[in-house]
Amino acid sequence: MIKNRKINLIVIHCSATRVTQDFTVGELEACHLARGFRDIGYHYYITKDGVIYPCRPESEPGAHARHYNAHSIGICYEGGLDANGRPADTRTSAQKAAMRELLKSLCTDYPEAEILGHRDLPGVHKECPCFNVKKWLSSIHFHI
Ligand SMILES: [Zn+2]
Repeated sequence: MIKNRKINLIVIHCSATRVTQDFTVGELEACHLARGFRDIGYHYYITKDGVIYPCRPESEPGAHARHYNAHSIGICYEGGLDANGRPADTRTSAQKAAMRELLKSLCTDYPEAEILGHRDLPGVHKECPCFNVKKWLSSIHFHI
């Protein structure tokens, strides 16, 4: 838990890579550095095997949701596109379990935070994170 900035939002993203492709945390970092970020723009990255990689410290604003970085935490999972490159909920059961645990712990630290998908923010015209976050949370009886 951090105190230097107020967290009122948790935003879920996908890496927009094909489920058939591996996109490691090292590749994610290289990609974000190439885009001019000083490190990975998300705070957490969850790979297909369900491993949670802490990326940017929670004390620092991320670079993942335009206009919403100051007061949010960004989480990204590896995948989001099916084998044909179409948007799909490609999360493995290990990823879903890891995401649930991570959200649980973040909601303990930041009880006022709302959890949304990137596409649920106003003005976002892409599919990210390629699944309905609110629907998934209610299906797993996740209450905050
Ligand atoms: Zn996104």
